[in-house]
Order: sequence, then C-alpha cells, then structure tokens
Amino acid sequence: MARLKKEKVFRDPILNFISIRDKTILDLINSSEMQRLRRIKALGVANLVFHGGEQSRFQHSLGVYEITRRMVEHFDVNRPKFWDHDNDIVVMAAGLLHDIGHGAYSHTFEHIFGTNHEEFTQKIITDPSTEVNKILKRYDENLPNEVASVIAKTHPNKLLVSMISSQIDADRMDYLLRDAYFTGAEYGKYDIERILHLMYPTEEGIVFDISGVHSVEDYIVSRYQMYLQVYFHPASRGMEVVLENLLMRAQGLFTEEIQPEIFFPTIAAIFESGKDISVSNYLKLDDGVFTTAFGIWLNSKDKILSDLSRRFLDRKPFKSISYSGERDNRLIHLEKLVEENGFDKFWYSGTNNANDIPYKSYSARNKTKRPIQFIDGDGNLKGLSSLSDIVKSIDNMEVSDNRFFFPKELLKRSEELKKQYHDRKAF
Ligand code: ZN
Repeated sequence: MARLKKEKVFRDPILNFISIRDKTILDLINSSEMQRLRRIKALGVANLVFHGGEQSRFQHSLGVYEITRRMVEHFDVNRPKFWDHDNDIVVMAAGLLHDIGHGAYSHTFEHIFGTNHEEFTQKIITDPSTEVNKILKRYDENLPNEVASVIAKTHPNKLLVSMISSQIDADRMDYLLRDAYFTGAEYGKYDIERILHLMYPTEEGIVFDISGVHSVEDYIVSRYQMYLQVYFHPASRGMEVVLENLLMRAQGLFTEEIQPEIFFPTIAAIFESGKDISVSNYLKLDDGVFTTAFGIWLNSKDKILSDLSRRFLDRKPFKSISYSGERDNRLIHLEKLVEENGFDKFWYSGTNNANDIPYKSYSARNKTKRPIQFIDGDGNLKGLSSLSDIVKSIDNMEVSDNRFFFPKELLKRSEELKKQYHDRKAF
C-alpha cells in the first residue's frame, strides 16, 4: 500500500482523531462522491426534533473507516497470525464507502422513488465513470469488486464482512455513539475502546474475550434505548410523513405534466426515472437540492404542494396515535375522520411503522447471521445471551411502534381524535 510521507489526522468529536496513512484512503476521501456525503444528513429529518442532530453521512463514514482501521491495529496486537495485511485496504475502503449510495433524506427518498441505497453503493463503486472506482482501480484492477462484495456481504472472507456488517460492526459502533452525542441523548454510550481491545479475528468473524461481556452487553442495551428514544421518535416520523406526501404530490404533478415548469433538471431526473436514474444524475441529488425546491414550491399554484412545502420548511409535524399496524376497521375509521374534517386523507394522513430487533442469537430467516460470541480461557466459544441475563431477556424481541399520522389542526376540529390522542400510551 502506498503510504503517505506524513500521517494526516482529522479531529473528530467522537473518536478524537481519524488517522489517514495511505494515499488511496486520502484520495477516496477527497473524491467527489465522498464529498457529496457532507451534504446529506445522517439522521434524515430527526434534526427537526433533536436540533443538534445535524451531523452528515460524511463524518459518520470517516468514523466507520477509523473504527475499521483500529480493529486491524488491535488484531495485530491480539492475534497477528490471524490477520492478512493484504486485506487492510479492502476492509478500510469498505468501511469508508459503505454509505456512499445514500440518497437525500435517505429513507423517505427510497420509500417514494423505489431506490435502494445498497444497490447504489454497489453501482457507484463499480461504475467506471466514478472517481472512487478509478482510485480503487489504480490500486488494483479487482479492488472495486472486492470492496463492493464486502459491503454486499457476498465476499468469501467472513471476517471482513463481519467487521462492516454484523450485530456489532464498525457501522453500528460508530452511529450509536455519534447519534447519541449529536442528538444530546444520554443513551447510546458504551465503552468502545474496551470493546476494540478485546476483539479477536477468527475465520468465521470477529469474537471477543470473555472479560468483555459487560461492555458488549452495554452496547446492546444502548442500541435498544437509542431505537426507542431517538430513531422511533413520533415527531420525526411525523415530519417524515409530511415529506413523503410532499414528494408524492410533486411527482404526481410532474408526471401528469400539470406544472412541469417548476421542476429543475436535477429533480426532474428522479421524477422521470425513479429507481432507474443514472448514477451521474443520482449523484447530483442531496438534501440541499430538495430544500431549495421546497422553497420554490411554497409559491406553487398547486395549493396542496405549497401547503405541504410550508409544513415541511416551517416544521409542522403531523400528530399521531398508535394503531394495530393492520388495515383494520379502526384505521379506516380514522381516515374517515380526516376526510370528514376537511382534509384529503391521501395527502394529509399516513401510517408509519417502526420496528427493530435489538439482538438476535438465532435467525431462522438469515442463517448466516451470527450471534455475538466470546472466547473463554479454554478456547471455547459462547454466545452473548448465554452469558448475559440482560441480553437474554431481550433476545429475539421485536420492538415496534405503529402510528397513524394526521394534521395537528384536527385535534381542534374532531373531539373523537382529540380524545384518542390524549388517551394515548406514553411513548
Ligand atoms: Zn452507516
């Protein structure tokens, strides 16, 4: 690997420093595709609830790279014979580039346009027109495919895959700490340094020294709490529903050529092609392109488009009440209340179902999903839930929250909705 003459160090609020020692990694960071991630927020619209949560995908990606680099460094101390240094560049580039295909307002964007950030990550790395592809190829002709297959979890080396995607990988380890820090949540903290020190490489993936059980247990509990307190927050999901309805309305007006003149080419490309948008057009999109469009749409002749744009820009989240998650009589009745009180249910209501399984010791659906394992003094492997009563109690437990969303004004117009809203369970 071509070493830099002098190490480059970037200060980082979470990991203290990001250390760059290789020219290929520095070139990748400076590529146009990586720099685009500065313009995409890591938490989508959650900054409208947690105002500190403005951090970008760029800084998260640097964090994942740094954690991957530190894993390699600790492998060298703990079990040098089990780590092949030819893999350094593969896994560090995979950590850095794992989110390169994220779109603007990631999850909402994907939902509306049918794009998939994982597919775009693969395309951006393997497409000969991109800068990252050229940089990786300069190092080795096959490097783009290798890096892409680590991220896609298809690489034959299970250890490399487990470092980037497993139940305790560099990606999750970074975003939990980073999101907790920037949102100001007092959850999500755990002792990353200790976990890295106690991590070993094996052919099947990473394992931990048995003395690290409680540090890893703390990481799982942090993840559980972050999902309930931050990622599932009803108000940010209320903003997501506004954004979804807004993008759908705009796309409908464009497709039916009702007001095509208000769409500039960057946005028109995604409305025209959806998931088949070209890589180069996809890379022109970021959060700012859409925010600018929403500002223009405030003055649209289409009253619904301008109203939804205003609700998004002025942060007027839809309110919500829990429902079963099924399209049952209650949901149909709630939609009727929206209509009866003067709103079109299609543009002014919506459902959002959030769910997560904080830890799975076994997956019937995905047999390759491994439990988190520890190695004892005799060299035996033991699963986390057999060592921790706390993790055992949430093992395979799905946490979910299904909500029906509607405009806040309805709480004044409908006594029935108001009563259901105030009777809601505390979140
Ligand atoms: Zn990530």
